Amino acid sequence: MKIRARWVVPVGQPPIADGVVTIADDRVVEVGNGTSDAVVRDLGDVILLPGLVNAHTHLEFSDLRLPLGEPRMPFAAWIGRVVEHRRAQAAAADGNASLLEKRRAAAIAAGLAESSAAGVVAVGEIATAEWPTELDPEGPSAVGGVIFRELLGLAGDRQAAIAATAEQHLAGSPPPGWQHGLSPHAPYTVRPDLVARSCQLSVVTHAPIAMHLAESLAELELLASHSGELVELLRSLDAWHPAAIPRGIEPADYLSMLAQAHRALVIHGNFLTPRDWRYLAERKGTMSVVYCPRTFAYFGHGRYPLAEMLAAGVRVAVGTDSQASNPDLSVLAELRQVARAHPELSPESILALGTLASAEALGIKPDFGSIEPGKLARFAVVPVGTEVTDPVEWLLHGTDTSASQWEL
Ligand SMILES: [Zn+2]
Repeated sequence: MKIRARWVVPVGQPPIADGVVTIADDRVVEVGNGTSDAVVRDLGDVILLPGLVNAHTHLEFSDLRLPLGEPRMPFAAWIGRVVEHRRAQAAAADGNASLLEKRRAAAIAAGLAESSAAGVVAVGEIATAEWPTELDPEGPSAVGGVIFRELLGLAGDRQAAIAATAEQHLAGSPPPGWQHGLSPHAPYTVRPDLVARSCQLSVVTHAPIAMHLAESLAELELLASHSGELVELLRSLDAWHPAAIPRGIEPADYLSMLAQAHRALVIHGNFLTPRDWRYLAERKGTMSVVYCPRTFAYFGHGRYPLAEMLAAGVRVAVGTDSQASNPDLSVLAELRQVARAHPELSPESILALGTLASAEALGIKPDFGSIEPGKLARFAVVPVGTEVTDPVEWLLHGTDTSASQWEL
């Protein structure tokens, strides 16, 4: 079949006015323009672009109507709110594990539906447990991607169980359209040897690894000197085990562990150094950084060194993070935030973050990230005015946020 749109924005090549995409067997066969005779379906005044890719989210928080806490609150205090929220959920279920599981499934399903409605076709999802069986991942949302099993806990007597969880997750079969990955959570919640073990498993199974790293100054302080607000928080939760984290270890040490993985995503990387950027750029084949623009702004971290990282050659993808720190799961809204915060970047390079770069970071570039022959026919559509002459500029600066997933 052929579909026509006022603009086709393939990403990686210039926009095409009166673009026509030919599809066969659910894959793109040809991208061109304008002959009207064989057009089967005219989508009208819309921009057709590759389905957006959200490289980092936690859909289990998609039952939240508003982010937790308030803007610019200290990071450790926010983590405290997340823990409180999880405990309150458990208390509300009153020990009824199946009710808790039902609610978790409902939140994930809501997140998938919201993603799909925002033109997102693939996500890098962090899951605190195996996906609920009642979830129908083949349902109408048509979202795929990677399910990274979160690994978390510093206590010595939990390490064997955490490693077993990782192995079981990778041995299990993911739902159609999904792959399994691992997420050793962050330097302040997992032991370095568990990170290294995860990377070994990644080599054997080709599962990608996602790890939160260099997210806050509090994290850097904890690593450097075993002090600061995160240590205080962990202590108050009875989760601080100083012997588990070598004092003085740096984000660079974690990067060299992650460099051993088949593929690794460094989530946030807000406070990496120019030396770290060079290291990541040299390993662009397997390593990426995931910038979460509105979450970054929520915490008032200042200015993200996006232009510097891109100039250094780092692959930077984009994620929404969870609805505990972000109002919604729209990748287009993230890209608009990037355009506002980084006016020095070209619109084309910004659009690439939430499409090609995110697909490449997750290891799903053969199927997603651009409209070109061989890729899956998964698109986003955004309404466009007839007077528009630069569709990419329109995407990033327009006010219409009604992106949606194109469906047959
Ligand atoms: Zn996260």
